[in-house]
Amino acid sequence: RAKAKSRGTISIFEPEMDQQIRDRRVLHQELSVAIKNGELSLYYQPQAAAGGSVAASQIIGFEALARWHHPVRGCVPPGDFIPLAEESGLIVEMGEWILREACREAASWAIPLQVAVNLSPAQFTHGDLVGLVHSILLETGLTPDRLELEITEGVLIEDFDRGLSLLRRLKALGVRISMDDFGSGYSSLSYLQAFPFDKIKIDRAFVINLGRNPQSAAIVRAVIDLGHGLEMSIVAEGVETEAQLDFLAEEGCDAVQGYLIGRPAPIGQFAALVGGDQLAETVRRAG
Ligand code: C2E
Ligand code: MG
Ligand code: MG
Ligand code: MG
Repeated sequence: RAKAKSRGTISIFEPEMDQQIRDRRVLHQELSVAIKNGELSLYYQPQAAAGGSVAASQIIGFEALARWHHPVRGCVPPGDFIPLAEESGLIVEMGEWILREACREAASWAIPLQVAVNLSPAQFTHGDLVGLVHSILLETGLTPDRLELEITEGVLIEDFDRGLSLLRRLKALGVRISMDDFGSGYSSLSYLQAFPFDKIKIDRAFVINLGRNPQSAAIVRAVIDLGHGLEMSIVAEGVETEAQLDFLAEEGCDAVQGYLIGRPAPIGQFAALVGGDQLAETVRRAG
């Protein structure tokens, strides 16, 4: 057993640590067959135009969120398995499955709402992302302007020039690009100037604190104005209360997403919003 523990060193002889490594290895193996076994699925969370009240909120689209239904462990949250998939490189294959599944689903809707898909950094650095998006759009028949790709600044930090070129080529396909979790990391204003985002998603952390501290309100207000000045639209994430919605609508925020509007759920729960599941099913089978 390693004696001294100091910051930044890994004591490789800790038995618990050994167990953790074994657990991760097992989880990794299980994740690698999860797609084939049909254990992955997508949940969808609605986004609404920021109108007056929840009842009056018009649904404009959905964000697709990955779910892993593990046969024994149950539902493993994406916060656990996405990082694992990223580390192991599995995210490339998984990301492709997610993108195809979300586009196929959205293409089957009778009402042409938007679908937003999260991209991982590894999808930017491995393989031909632009070619993949292009072929999935052709294959599924989804109109490019209905697809929104969500990226976090982490994607762009590593290689500015490559990131910019990729975003421009994606935009040239006609898809939309959103900056996800804005304000949560090292977001710098120069990113907003340099990269052609269509949308900024204000991180949940600021929304939670609306009404609790005046700083969050000031930041949210400033981001809305800034985004609008750059001709980007603004979505607030994690909206849970009417008071938050009121504030955001008042400040001119374009759209909201959060438990107040709807929790992420299988698309069947939103059948009425996308045009009915019977119709969707017919279209899917025909295609
Ligand atoms: P995200 O893209 O910022 O997604 C929003 C997360 O906030 C989702 O968590 C959603 O369930 C949660 N959320 C939405 N509204 C509320 C609310 O009102 N209150 C609270 N407390 N939470 C809310 P989820 O589904 O667990 O996803 C977590 C993160 O995992 C996502 O953050 C995204 O970064 C990543 N992720 C999820 N699906 C995918 C995927 O398909 N691909 C990639 N690359 N990453 C994904
Ligand atoms: Mg997202
Ligand atoms: Mg987010
Ligand atoms: Mg997030």
